[in-house]
Amino acid sequence: MKNCDHKNLKKGTVTKKFLDHTFKSEAQICKDCGAELWDNKLNAKFQSWLNDLDVENQKQYKVSKTTDILMKELGSQFHCTDESKLVRSIIAVLNKKLSNPTYNNIFNEILDSEDFKRLKQEPLTLTKKVRITNPKSLYDIENWKEILDLNDSEFIRTYIVLILVINKQVNNEFAKFWNSYIKDDLEMVLAA
Ligand SMILES: [Zn+2]
Repeated sequence: MKNCDHKNLKKGTVTKKFLDHTFKSEAQICKDCGAELWDNKLNAKFQSWLNDLDVENQKQYKVSKTTDILMKELGSQFHCTDESKLVRSIIAVLNKKLSNPTYNNIFNEILDSEDFKRLKQEPLTLTKKVRITNPKSLYDIENWKEILDLNDSEFIRTYIVLILVINKQVNNEFAKFWNSYIKDDLEMVLAA
Protein backbone atom coordinates (compact mmCIF):
# COMPACT_ATOMS: atom_id res chain seq x y z
CA MET A 1 0.00 0.00 0.00
CA LYS A 2 2.81 2.45 0.75
CA ASN A 3 3.76 2.49 -2.94
CA CYS A 4 0.23 3.34 -4.08
CA ASP A 5 0.29 5.90 -6.87
CA HIS A 6 -3.36 6.90 -6.35
CA LYS A 7 -4.53 6.05 -9.86
CA ASN A 8 -8.11 5.13 -9.00
CA LEU A 9 -9.82 8.19 -7.69
CA LYS A 10 -13.34 8.64 -6.43
CA LYS A 11 -15.29 11.62 -5.16
CA GLY A 12 -15.56 11.78 -1.42
CA THR A 13 -15.60 14.04 1.59
CA VAL A 14 -12.56 15.17 3.54
CA THR A 15 -12.73 16.59 7.02
CA LYS A 16 -10.06 18.32 9.05
CA LYS A 17 -10.44 19.22 12.68
CA PHE A 18 -8.97 22.41 14.10
CA LEU A 19 -9.67 23.37 17.72
CA ASP A 20 -13.44 22.87 17.98
CA HIS A 21 -14.11 23.57 14.30
CA THR A 22 -14.33 21.09 11.46
CA PHE A 23 -13.49 21.81 7.84
CA LYS A 24 -15.48 19.71 5.40
CA SER A 25 -15.15 19.60 1.64
CA GLU A 26 -15.71 17.44 -1.39
CA ALA A 27 -12.44 16.07 -2.67
CA GLN A 28 -10.77 13.28 -4.64
CA ILE A 29 -9.99 10.20 -2.61
CA CYS A 30 -7.90 7.21 -3.68
CA LYS A 31 -10.07 4.10 -4.07
CA ASP A 32 -7.18 1.80 -3.23
CA CYS A 33 -5.54 3.30 -0.17
CA GLY A 34 -8.01 5.94 0.98
CA ALA A 35 -5.52 8.83 0.68
CA GLU A 36 -7.05 12.28 0.35
CA LEU A 37 -5.73 14.34 -2.54
CA TRP A 38 -4.87 17.75 -1.14
CA ASP A 39 -4.29 19.63 -4.37
CA ASN A 40 -3.85 23.41 -4.69
CA LYS A 41 -7.57 23.95 -5.03
CA LEU A 42 -8.40 22.07 -1.84
CA ASN A 43 -5.55 23.74 0.02
CA ALA A 44 -6.78 27.17 -1.08
CA LYS A 45 -10.28 26.28 0.06
CA PHE A 46 -8.94 25.20 3.44
CA GLN A 47 -6.85 28.39 3.81
CA SER A 48 -9.83 30.59 3.05
CA TRP A 49 -11.98 28.63 5.54
CA LEU A 50 -9.20 29.09 8.09
CA ASN A 51 -8.89 32.83 7.48
CA ASP A 52 -12.62 33.33 8.04
CA LEU A 53 -12.64 31.50 11.36
CA ASP A 54 -13.38 33.54 14.41
CA VAL A 55 -11.03 32.01 16.94
CA GLU A 56 -9.33 33.31 19.98
CA ASN A 57 -7.01 31.45 22.20
CA GLN A 58 -5.24 32.53 25.32
CA LYS A 59 -2.06 30.64 25.97
CA GLN A 60 -0.09 30.55 29.16
CA TYR A 61 3.66 30.09 29.29
CA LYS A 62 6.54 30.27 31.73
CA VAL A 63 9.90 31.95 31.36
CA SER A 64 13.04 32.48 33.43
CA LYS A 65 14.14 35.80 34.89
CA THR A 66 16.94 36.20 32.33
CA THR A 67 14.56 35.46 29.48
CA ASP A 68 12.20 38.09 30.81
CA ILE A 69 14.97 40.71 30.94
CA LEU A 70 16.17 39.82 27.42
CA MET A 71 12.61 40.01 26.09
CA LYS A 72 12.25 43.51 27.51
CA GLU A 73 15.51 44.46 25.81
CA LEU A 74 14.30 42.98 22.54
CA GLY A 75 11.05 44.92 22.89
CA SER A 76 12.94 48.18 23.38
CA GLN A 77 15.02 47.49 20.24
CA PHE A 78 11.74 47.56 18.35
CA HIS A 79 10.07 50.25 20.47
CA CYS A 80 7.45 47.74 21.54
CA THR A 81 6.24 47.70 25.11
CA ASP A 82 3.37 45.29 24.44
CA GLU A 83 4.98 41.93 25.23
CA SER A 84 1.96 39.95 24.08
CA LYS A 85 2.23 41.60 20.67
CA LEU A 86 5.96 40.90 20.57
CA VAL A 87 5.40 37.20 21.34
CA ARG A 88 2.65 36.97 18.69
CA SER A 89 4.99 38.53 16.14
CA ILE A 90 7.86 36.20 17.06
CA ILE A 91 5.55 33.21 16.58
CA ALA A 92 4.37 34.49 13.18
CA VAL A 93 7.92 35.15 11.93
CA LEU A 94 9.38 31.86 13.18
CA ASN A 95 6.46 29.77 11.90
CA LYS A 96 7.23 31.11 8.45
CA LYS A 97 10.99 30.59 8.69
CA LEU A 98 10.69 27.10 10.17
CA SER A 99 8.47 25.94 7.34
CA ASN A 100 11.17 26.93 4.83
CA PRO A 101 13.76 24.12 4.46
CA THR A 102 16.41 26.70 3.46
CA TYR A 103 16.81 27.53 7.14
CA ASN A 104 16.98 23.96 8.52
CA ASN A 105 20.76 24.07 9.09
CA ILE A 106 20.85 27.40 10.85
CA PHE A 107 17.94 26.42 13.11
CA ASN A 108 19.69 23.18 14.02
CA GLU A 109 22.84 25.13 14.89
CA ILE A 110 20.90 27.52 17.07
CA LEU A 111 19.10 24.67 18.86
CA ASP A 112 22.51 23.04 19.41
CA SER A 113 24.23 26.18 20.69
CA GLU A 114 25.35 26.62 24.30
CA ASP A 115 23.38 29.85 24.61
CA PHE A 116 20.17 28.12 23.63
CA LYS A 117 20.69 25.22 26.02
CA ARG A 118 21.70 27.47 28.91
CA LEU A 119 18.74 29.81 28.52
CA LYS A 120 16.36 26.88 28.04
CA GLN A 121 17.52 25.17 31.24
CA GLU A 122 17.02 28.08 33.61
CA PRO A 123 14.36 27.77 36.30
CA LEU A 124 10.99 29.10 35.16
CA THR A 125 9.83 31.65 37.65
CA LEU A 126 7.43 33.87 35.72
CA THR A 127 4.05 32.97 34.26
CA LYS A 128 2.81 34.96 31.28
CA LYS A 129 -0.12 35.00 28.92
CA VAL A 130 -0.47 35.68 25.24
CA ARG A 131 -3.73 36.06 23.35
CA ILE A 132 -3.69 34.78 19.80
CA THR A 133 -6.50 35.72 17.44
CA ASN A 134 -5.00 35.05 14.03
CA PRO A 135 -6.41 31.66 12.90
CA LYS A 136 -3.44 31.00 10.57
CA SER A 137 -1.02 31.56 13.43
CA LEU A 138 -3.05 29.31 15.72
CA TYR A 139 -3.17 26.61 13.09
CA ASP A 140 0.61 26.81 12.57
CA ILE A 141 1.15 26.62 16.33
CA GLU A 142 -0.94 23.46 16.61
CA ASN A 143 0.97 21.96 13.67
CA TRP A 144 4.43 22.77 15.00
CA LYS A 145 3.54 21.70 18.52
CA GLU A 146 2.68 18.28 17.16
CA ILE A 147 5.80 18.04 14.99
CA LEU A 148 8.11 19.21 17.78
CA ASP A 149 6.15 17.30 20.45
CA LEU A 150 5.78 20.27 22.80
CA ASN A 151 2.98 21.64 24.95
CA ASP A 152 1.84 25.30 24.71
CA SER A 153 4.26 26.63 27.30
CA GLU A 154 7.28 24.71 25.97
CA PHE A 155 6.43 25.72 22.43
CA ILE A 156 6.20 29.44 23.15
CA ARG A 157 9.30 29.38 25.33
CA THR A 158 11.28 27.54 22.65
CA TYR A 159 10.36 30.23 20.12
CA ILE A 160 11.22 33.04 22.51
CA VAL A 161 14.60 31.53 23.40
CA LEU A 162 15.31 30.88 19.71
CA ILE A 163 14.75 34.51 18.77
CA LEU A 164 16.76 35.77 21.77
CA VAL A 165 19.74 33.60 20.83
CA ILE A 166 19.62 34.80 17.21
CA ASN A 167 19.30 38.38 18.44
CA LYS A 168 22.48 37.98 20.54
CA GLN A 169 24.44 37.44 17.30
CA VAL A 170 27.23 35.49 19.01
CA ASN A 171 28.82 34.53 15.71
CA ASN A 172 28.83 35.75 12.10
CA GLU A 173 26.30 33.19 11.01
CA PHE A 174 23.72 34.07 13.67
CA ALA A 175 24.38 37.77 13.04
CA LYS A 176 23.79 37.34 9.32
CA PHE A 177 20.61 35.34 9.97
CA TRP A 178 19.32 38.02 12.30
CA ASN A 179 20.20 40.96 10.08
CA SER A 180 19.20 39.46 6.74
CA TYR A 181 16.22 37.30 7.56
CA ILE A 182 14.68 38.02 10.94
CA LYS A 183 15.00 41.70 11.90
CA ASP A 184 13.03 43.23 9.02
CA ASP A 185 10.33 40.57 9.14
CA LEU A 186 9.82 41.11 12.84
CA GLU A 187 9.70 44.85 12.33
CA MET A 188 7.12 44.45 9.57
CA VAL A 189 4.87 42.11 11.56
CA LEU A 190 5.09 44.39 14.60
CA ALA A 191 4.09 47.40 12.51
CA ALA A 192 1.09 45.61 10.95
ZN1 LIG B 1 -3.67 5.47 -3.18
